[in-house]
Amino acid sequence: MSKKVIVFGSFVVDLMGRTPHLPASGETVKGSMFRMGPGGKGFNQGAAAHKAGANVTMVTKLGRDAFGQVAQDTMQELGMSSEYLLFSEDTETGCALIMVDENTSQNKIVVISGACGTITNEDVERLAPLMDGAEYLLTQLETNISSIDRAVRLAYEKGVKVILNPAPVQPVKDVLLSMVDLVTPNEVEAEIMTGIPVSDKAAADQAAKWFMDRGVKKVLITLGSRGVYIHDGIKSGILPAYRVKALDTTGAGDAFNGGLLTALSEGKDLWEAAVFANALAALSVQKLGTTVSMPLRKEIDAFLAEHK
Ligand code: AMP
Repeated sequence: MSKKVIVFGSFVVDLMGRTPHLPASGETVKGSMFRMGPGGKGFNQGAAAHKAGANVTMVTKLGRDAFGQVAQDTMQELGMSSEYLLFSEDTETGCALIMVDENTSQNKIVVISGACGTITNEDVERLAPLMDGAEYLLTQLETNISSIDRAVRLAYEKGVKVILNPAPVQPVKDVLLSMVDLVTPNEVEAEIMTGIPVSDKAAADQAAKWFMDRGVKKVLITLGSRGVYIHDGIKSGILPAYRVKALDTTGAGDAFNGGLLTALSEGKDLWEAAVFANALAALSVQKLGTTVSMPLRKEIDAFLAEHK
């Protein structure tokens, strides 16, 4: 039985263009391909969890415009509840302008948070009924930090366990960390937050201790194709990633976090949940895109059965 969970985070429309080279300042380059689609760390994680079978409610803030409609259409298509969508009457829906060099895969990205950077305290208070009976709240650092502080506090006070994926990385107050059950940085984010380069398990243990000294109960650091480091509060170790041919690793962390939330909501322990999340992420990196590359539950189960 999966318990009720919440993803609180950003929605932006990704506007991605591929180009023979990234333009210099003042230069115009003819691009070769354009793709538009739903994105934002919060939305990607919510969609990943929903497609994986979680009983998840997505909370984000949209403008009353065409990009906001992209979010609503996607949620309807996927069968996600839009009951707790928030709307801004005067700020546009967020978007990400992504340029990708088709030869080197290097990119330049400008993210404009738009409406999901304007979540007010009153918006968050409206989530109180949603928190009743919820098991986990998963959030990132892509909406305005005041909204994250408020949502985490509300969850904490209502006994909802908080998972913080600290991306995009920025300074976080110790008081916020003290309310976090599980933190899930990637290795770059872990290094920026703790000042400790996560070069091996001993270094990861030190980084985990940094978080735990601030009250975080469990630490999981994603290590890309090397897998994940886990500290469950008692013991620590590294779980390798599945060996697959990666085509597009954008959103791998989002896939992983959505998978982790799903498995935890089904009562799996952190180690088992990380196996499930590794599988979900391994499937997603074999496809282009973010939200659209998240696999369905039956694909994850088949992958796990194949890789026993
Ligand atoms: P990252 O955000 O790069 O640390 O990746 C998050 C998770 O996605 C990792 O912990 C893996 O589970 C998975 N992942 C990322 N890159 C790959 C890859 N090349 N092959 C398989 N799994 C991957």
